[in-house]
Amino acid sequence: MRDACGVFGVYAPGIEVSQLIFDGLFALQHRGQESAGMAVSDDEEIFVSKDMGLVTSAFDARKLAALQGSLGIGHVRYSTQGESTWQNAQPVYRANGRAGFALGHNGNLTNVAALEVEEGMLAGVMTSDSDLIAELVAKEFDGDEDAPSDALETALVKVLPRLEGAFSLALLDAQHVIGVRDPNGYRPLCLGRLEGTDGGFVIASESPALDIVGASFVREIQPGEMVVIDGDGVRSSFPFPEVRVESHLCIFEFVYFARPDSRLFGKEVHAARRRMGAQLAAESPVEADLVMGVPDSGVPAAEGFAERSGIPFGHGLVKNRYIGRTFIAPTVQARLDAVRRKFNPLPESIAGKRLVVVDDSIVRGPTASQLVRMLREAGAAEVHLRISSPPFAWPCFYGIDTPDRGELLAAQVPVEEIAAYLGADSVAYLSLDGLHRAIGVERGFCSACLTGEYPTPVTLREKVPSRT
Ligand code: AMP
Repeated sequence: MRDACGVFGVYAPGIEVSQLIFDGLFALQHRGQESAGMAVSDDEEIFVSKDMGLVTSAFDARKLAALQGSLGIGHVRYSTQGESTWQNAQPVYRANGRAGFALGHNGNLTNVAALEVEEGMLAGVMTSDSDLIAELVAKEFDGDEDAPSDALETALVKVLPRLEGAFSLALLDAQHVIGVRDPNGYRPLCLGRLEGTDGGFVIASESPALDIVGASFVREIQPGEMVVIDGDGVRSSFPFPEVRVESHLCIFEFVYFARPDSRLFGKEVHAARRRMGAQLAAESPVEADLVMGVPDSGVPAAEGFAERSGIPFGHGLVKNRYIGRTFIAPTVQARLDAVRRKFNPLPESIAGKRLVVVDDSIVRGPTASQLVRMLREAGAAEVHLRISSPPFAWPCFYGIDTPDRGELLAAQVPVEEIAAYLGADSVAYLSLDGLHRAIGVERGFCSACLTGEYPTPVTLREKVPSRT
């Protein structure tokens, strides 16, 4: 039951929105490659289409043409441990009486078991936590013919305060698009105005999806906020108790997850990553001949490191652009093999050189250990790893699916022994303080994966290490 996904929604009177949703989801593809789906309403009926795979394989021109209507939502799903099945693809659709609604969820609920008990449900009947949210909303949703037009909003006001954990939601009924951000704002969600339309608005997990559909950024949706978009414009309300509302945006969105061209907390992510590299160079300098990034996510920090240290920046690795995710391969050997398939060194650039190799994070460790070996085989004289975030030592329960502590390298090997473990000449991580400074925002983050301080209660599962 763990998803970290992308959501998108659009209300655009007089415009067929399926192509816009396709474009929006395509811009959010990095947030989930497992399945893609959309729900579109023509003001009366909702049509849903979803499939496994990338946005471009889930939809073609024929499918898009069949999805007629001027409002809709879309979803891309990423899941590493939850089951990868068509049933778990989103949006989830539920009908009650004559009317229905669709829901797309980014995040992960932390009180699923308690909700199941409260509802008298058998554990595991719901195939995902998103399914559970839809079920709870469906129970409260008045779908009668003469139901008030704000029936979905009314149901949400009853259900939302019962949910704990991370949820950025996009919802659709026949006449409204609704965006919700949980009271901690773990996952991003923003609002845009669709230029050239009369009252067209867009919601999206990340701001580049707005740019790409021709919408201008209006603002981030606030932690604990619900926005309802319909023919009357945008209406905002705060359905959660005030004491629960406090920003805890996932700091890993800045480190790794978000697109570099995203703006979060008003900061461009790419520029923040460059500053992380510069800060890292200041904190952990090293004598070297070349600074290189692990493509693609380590490159901006490598540029910042090179600039601050004065060591030339160069490319030492080529990444195969067509490879899927190596992160989720099931065994240690499979993950090591996948790294080899994904990266190939450039011996003429690196032979005989003392290298600074910058990556954004080390999670389990296979990427770093395999790269060190490959770079040495290609002739590197020294390999100094520099990581543009602090040691990742705690699992995430809020939507970025990371393994149990038993599999996290920094939880298993003391930091001063990590270089020897990985076969590197040295390893240094950015400090948490340095990370905040680089982002340019001191407060309002969840850094649980780096500190073990979870903003809301979670149950840590200590699993036996699966390292073999
Ligand atoms: P690992 O090989 O397990 O140490 O994973 C670290 C590599 O995976 C780094 O190169 C990161 O850029 C990347 N990474 C970090 N977090 C994630 C995530 N949640 N999903 C996929 N890749 C990630």
